[in-house]
Amino acid sequence: MATAVDDELYREIILDHYRRPRHRGRVEPADADVHGHNPLCGDEVDVTLRVRAGRIEAIAFDGQGCSISLASASMMAEQVAGSSVGEARETVRRFKRMLVDGADPQSPDALGDLEALQGVRRYASRVKCAVLAWNALETGLDRAGAQGERGGADA
Ligand code: ZN
Repeated sequence: MATAVDDELYREIILDHYRRPRHRGRVEPADADVHGHNPLCGDEVDVTLRVRAGRIEAIAFDGQGCSISLASASMMAEQVAGSSVGEARETVRRFKRMLVDGADPQSPDALGDLEALQGVRRYASRVKCAVLAWNALETGLDRAGAQGERGGADA
């Protein structure tokens, strides 16, 4: 259970990412450029990324929206930059499990700053804000992977 102290700390982490976003901008050239839109809140986010030798060599986001959507995008980029595609997918999976399924992140391999967003799950409408950039990341990894595998089916 999160305590009041945790809530205060989490709010500070979220505001810090919102005010001083990490990896904001665009990756050029990019293997994938994904636009995400959350009509419920009006959040817009573009995630660009470049994959080399199975690793996310560069990732950036840009956009506009509420503090939750932009802080989450900043945390996401910071978390997965430099990691392998497999690790990034695992992080996406665990982040969504925490937010959408309400799984308790308290574990030895905790999610670090990302845990600051666990309070969001109490507000169903904000969950879509928090996962917006993550869905774009997943799509981006799919596209970058498809581009990196020559000779695959065109479908
Ligand atoms: Zn929002």
